[in-house]
Amino acid sequence: MDYNDNRTMNDLKSQVIRPTRQRAMIMEVLNGTTKHPTADWIYDKVRKKCPNVSLGTIYRNLNLLKEKGLIRELKYGKNTARYDGNFDPHHHIFCLKCGKLDDIQCKVHPNLTKSVEKSSGYKIEGHQLEFNGICPDCLKKVE
Ligand SMILES: [Zn+2]
Ligand SMILES: [Zn+2]
Repeated sequence: MDYNDNRTMNDLKSQVIRPTRQRAMIMEVLNGTTKHPTADWIYDKVRKKCPNVSLGTIYRNLNLLKEKGLIRELKYGKNTARYDGNFDPHHHIFCLKCGKLDDIQCKVHPNLTKSVEKSSGYKIEGHQLEFNGICPDCLKKVE
């Protein structure tokens, strides 16, 4: 009985510590890539350093980090959610063939915001622009 009680205590303790460590590792993985990875990809990377981690834990932590505003979740259509640790203002371009998601550094013309405000009556606070097409790698394969 004592043994079981101790185990429960240890489990609880590890629940408090483990998620924090895993969160730090998720952040590290995200900050070290510009690929905008999926949860599966992050899971693979984190698992290499922390073999006991489960995909469910990764999802839970990703949601938490998202709620805390530490990462961004990107969802395009029916595609699996992708995650971005980069908070510098930037837009995304998505390859319709291979699913690659790249950053693009390109400022939106201020007139665009103005004309959207005019036609919608909204006061625009922000925007998300998504471009899609065929990436240079896939274009090469077609040729
Ligand atoms: Zn592609
Ligand atoms: Zn990005």
